[in-house]
Amino acid sequence: MVALIGNPLQAKAMGFVYVDVSKQIYSYDEMMEDIISISAGHEDFVSYSTLTTTSQGRSVCLLKFGNLASDNKILITASIHAREYMTSQLVMRMLEEYILNYDVPQANGLTYRQMFDSVCFYVLPMINPDGVTISQFGGTPRIKSNGNGVDLNRNFPLGFGQAPNAAKKPGLSNYPGSTPLSEVETLVMATLLNENDFVTCINYHSMGELIYYGASTNSAEVAIGCKNMANLVGSITGYKKLYCGNAIGSFADYFGSVEAAPSVTIEIGTATPTPISQFDEIYNRNINVWPEVARLYQ
Ligand SMILES: [Zn+2]
Repeated sequence: MVALIGNPLQAKAMGFVYVDVSKQIYSYDEMMEDIISISAGHEDFVSYSTLTTTSQGRSVCLLKFGNLASDNKILITASIHAREYMTSQLVMRMLEEYILNYDVPQANGLTYRQMFDSVCFYVLPMINPDGVTISQFGGTPRIKSNGNGVDLNRNFPLGFGQAPNAAKKPGLSNYPGSTPLSEVETLVMATLLNENDFVTCINYHSMGELIYYGASTNSAEVAIGCKNMANLVGSITGYKKLYCGNAIGSFADYFGSVEAAPSVTIEIGTATPTPISQFDEIYNRNINVWPEVARLYQ
């Protein structure tokens, strides 16, 4: 436990029990332990499972949280890009805050149980555990790809291979793969979309303090939804908004077409890997996003 001193909001970010936000490296192994720890005893509103196993033998975990019976399913994804692993630390620390204080009234007088009563979050806290581990311990901290050298956020069918900077062969970034959904990590995300109707999605990335939204392939209705989501999340976080444009095989592109629902991509920091010194500010900007998005579905 870290002593609660100074700015109460900052202290809240650092007041962890399990998810350590005081150091740069938050590893896959730590996250897997924390998933077990923060879920224990809360089976009425938290569950988790392994969706698949990566080529290097790690689990891609799904954590469900909130009203587990709700049809208002909100998808949250983090660390599809290896070097953006602070997004896992952020999502896990937010989950810890919500779960461990589920019945504690917050500043608005409501408990998280009340705020999240009409929604169920489907959280993928670390889509790319092999890449994250390579970034943290493998000597190439700037890697975005997975363990096979494929950029998972270019491996989806819509706009596959269309990114202007697409690489021709496996490497640290921008290689879309030999075929769409060639990787177990992306295949399992596509399966998740096939098996569930999501009302919206937030994808966490970490470069640029921006909210990306929209794709030229979206229907008019989805385009409006994306813009509204970006406006809402922008008003909470203060991040600038940027329209994406042409589909490039990203998960957001694919989500918009398969689910016919809006999404936003939140770029949480100014550098990758994001320095831990930025964590408190990032946490404070993001901790109210999930409750406000949940309010849309009450
Ligand atoms: Zn990214």
